Amino acid sequence: MNWSRGVVLKSDRELAIMRRAGRINALALLAAVEAVRPGATTADLDAAAVEVLRQHKAEPAFLGYPGAYPYPAATTICLNEELVHGIPGPRRLEEGDLVSIDCGATLEGFVGDSAITVGVGKISDEAGRLLEVTLEALMAGIGAMRLGHRTGDVSAAIQRLVETRGFNVVREYTGHGVGRAMHEDPQVPNYGRQGTGMPLRVGMTIALEPMVLAGRPETQVLEDEWTVASLDRRLTAHFEHSVAVTKDGPVVLTALDPVLDAGLGDRYNGYFAGFLQPVKDKGVRSQ
Ligand code: MG
Ligand code: MG
Repeated sequence: MNWSRGVVLKSDRELAIMRRAGRINALALLAAVEAVRPGATTADLDAAAVEVLRQHKAEPAFLGYPGAYPYPAATTICLNEELVHGIPGPRRLEEGDLVSIDCGATLEGFVGDSAITVGVGKISDEAGRLLEVTLEALMAGIGAMRLGHRTGDVSAAIQRLVETRGFNVVREYTGHGVGRAMHEDPQVPNYGRQGTGMPLRVGMTIALEPMVLAGRPETQVLEDEWTVASLDRRLTAHFEHSVAVTKDGPVVLTALDPVLDAGLGDRYNGYFAGFLQPVKDKGVRSQ
């Protein structure tokens, strides 16, 4: 294993394990998405994800994560104005809600970390646009994960996509290196300047996670000391993939497998699931 300024570069063998962990995480998210319906509780969604982790003998990476108190579940589930770190429980989904599900799976010592936001039934035009922009921001970030770029190029690609569409990115929470630990260096914020930050290198693995707010970018931690919500209580969305930098371009580690998982994911955006190529980010400087 190679270390560089706190960044852990992964070997091909380690990337193969991370791909397996990431696929299981994708299957867990898919199960949770398939449980989304009016009347379901957020605990139901968590249970669906936990069952997949158990079937594949993966450990829930979030359970026990240190904070104000150890994180008590395998997923974080957020509704509407809640952005990240919502604790699943008895709250019931209603038609028109936005629900974001974030999950982490540890397999053979490596973590897959990914998140998705979906609507419950019919959603508002603003909510639909927010989902579209947040997913496109993730794809723009993935497209920038190339040799010759720096972390600031990835951040700038995400920020530009979001802000040109009239929404805001969070400042207090960031994308991050991922590997044996769920949070490794480098931090990759959802805002930044091109040409700044750390040069990308083969074997870097980063969880990119645009957290997008329809209104102001400020957030607030709620009374449970975990859930983060928009301060103005307007809608938010969150998508995340763990992505490797390779000499052949970005590889999404938290995708379904096009062969093994063929036919799955009717309710799972194929673009997000990884069956389609990420968009190329034409706006990012190439060297
Ligand atoms: Mg996550
Ligand atoms: Mg993450």
